[in-house]
Amino acid sequence: MSAASVFPRLEPLLPRVSKPIQYVGGELNAVAKDWDSAAVRWALMYPDAYEVGQPNQGVQILYEVLNERDDVLAERTYAVWPDLEALMREHGVPQFTVDAHRPVAAFDLFGVSFATEMGYTNLLAALDLAQIPLDAAARDESHPVVIAGGHAAFNPEPIADFIDAAVLGDGEEAVLEITDIVRAWKADGRPGGRDELLLRLARTEAVYVPRFYDVDYLPDGRIQRVIPNRAEVPFRVHKRTTMDLDQWPYPKQPLVPLAETVHERYAVEIFRGCTRGCRFCQAGMITRPVRERSITTIGDMVERGIKESGFNEVGLLSLSSADHSEIGDVCSGLADRYEGDNVSLSLPSTRVDAFNVTLAQELSRNGRRSGLTFAPEGGSERIRRVINKMVSEEDLIRTVVTAYQGGWRQVKLYFMCGLPTETDDDVLQIARLAHEVIKAGREATGSKDIRCTVSIGGFVPKPHTPFQWASQADPETVDRRLKLLKQEINSNRSLGRAIGYRYHDGEPSVIEGLLSRGDRRVGAVIRRVWEQGGRFDGWSEHFSYRRWTDAAAEALEPMGVSLAWYTLRERDENEVLPWDHLDSGLDKEWLWADWQDSLSEVEQDDCRWTPCFDCGVCPGMDTEIQIGPTGRKLLPLTVV
Ligand code: SF4
Repeated sequence: MSAASVFPRLEPLLPRVSKPIQYVGGELNAVAKDWDSAAVRWALMYPDAYEVGQPNQGVQILYEVLNERDDVLAERTYAVWPDLEALMREHGVPQFTVDAHRPVAAFDLFGVSFATEMGYTNLLAALDLAQIPLDAAARDESHPVVIAGGHAAFNPEPIADFIDAAVLGDGEEAVLEITDIVRAWKADGRPGGRDELLLRLARTEAVYVPRFYDVDYLPDGRIQRVIPNRAEVPFRVHKRTTMDLDQWPYPKQPLVPLAETVHERYAVEIFRGCTRGCRFCQAGMITRPVRERSITTIGDMVERGIKESGFNEVGLLSLSSADHSEIGDVCSGLADRYEGDNVSLSLPSTRVDAFNVTLAQELSRNGRRSGLTFAPEGGSERIRRVINKMVSEEDLIRTVVTAYQGGWRQVKLYFMCGLPTETDDDVLQIARLAHEVIKAGREATGSKDIRCTVSIGGFVPKPHTPFQWASQADPETVDRRLKLLKQEINSNRSLGRAIGYRYHDGEPSVIEGLLSRGDRRVGAVIRRVWEQGGRFDGWSEHFSYRRWTDAAAEALEPMGVSLAWYTLRERDENEVLPWDHLDSGLDKEWLWADWQDSLSEVEQDDCRWTPCFDCGVCPGMDTEIQIGPTGRKLLPLTVV
């Protein structure tokens, strides 16, 4: 396909769609490179609307890492809203990049980053709009190699028919290695065509090419085995890990959105990985080992990021930011540096302890205070032992009261519903906790002007976690418990008035469960949903449970399986899981033992502070967890 800009055809359509500015590109720090000078060209997609996808750190980092190379070009594309999709179809405008408005089909590689499985229908919409065959097997050398990344790529089997490859783990180095392979193959005159290129990628043992693996099934529907169908292809594909984050201080030049987006700030990832061992948390499990960014690099990134972007808000991100071994020095150093400035600093505050409040206070010294969210995740101490979230009721009340005493009038408490072994009582305990929090807060502050919001998410069992074998709660049970909880919160009118209640109903979680733990047979469901108009399934206003259940019945039942079979069924130890050939570094035996500990309500310590408990990750990578303290301090502000 010609790489010429489609903007002359797109522009007349834009006055007819909502938020047209999201499609025009040209943001501060965006790059438009010369097409002909590039040896390898990537189109990068976050499969959601611009307002969600533009701030995505993963895509921004890869965009910058690739564009820093002289002979490499990377542009971005996002999901288009249905109003523009209809017009693009009517006028023959293909899926385009926002940077130079080139057709996605003209690129060598089409990399799609999936933070969640609910973006799968948007992948199909984008492929179809791009005029790239949905079936990977139907593509030829004229089509881009479609590569999935992000956390959902740790089980890409449901989209195995639609992608050419998947990369597990960190992308910074992986995209450059893939680029080198594509560059060499093109320079060699494309020997062996697309098949040879995919084979070269698969031989690295770090790129998964689904077509080189056959899946056999047992008569009862379970998987019998997954085996390579080519001699040179590895039995297991390993995740990529960028060990030294100080060598990769990206984004250096953050993209500043033109249209409104969900986060408008400079985000610095202060460490990667987590060893707290929350059993529901896929991100914590698959990103081990812990790798801290040094205090010096964090300081430099903040300073440069603000200068290059003009953002006046900085987020210090990670899975549990208060766990950085030098977080106290990071916060006080940044608070000193930006005191009297209009820069607002924030830390995602999920750890339930008073130290978190102290850090938030330090960061709000310049008068700009961010919200506080604590995540006990489970309502009762029993269920918190099951999920390995070691927070006592006393800790929680003490922490929230400290926040109220520190001047916060409102905190958010995050919980999950539908957890393994959960009973009605475990969920009703959330109401009791919230009542106690308000009572203690009123007593400590002498004020009635305090509030908390109880926010509930639906639990979804994820691959590569100890809960990968668990049955998922059915939506009726989840919805019934959420209703009971609401009644319980309001059973005390005085306390209930101070408690906000936010929840999602149970149906989307079941579909996320299907897509998370599904195998290749689930691809037929995704295709059917997309054909029936499914798009933007992560948005409640676009999600249709009925569309998914109808598609699942039509596509799965002839194969002897069903939506319930994938979601509500507990797996046994010997079952071959669809992602067993994809290596996240965790020992399956350790995960099983942790699942058994969970059922026995036995907790597991954090290996950052206690001896290694042999999850398998560090020896597999010949490393150790990488934490400070380094003893270094933030460098003083550079005098310009
Ligand atoms: S191998 Fe040991 S030290 Fe490394 S993450 Fe696992 S438990 Fe922790």
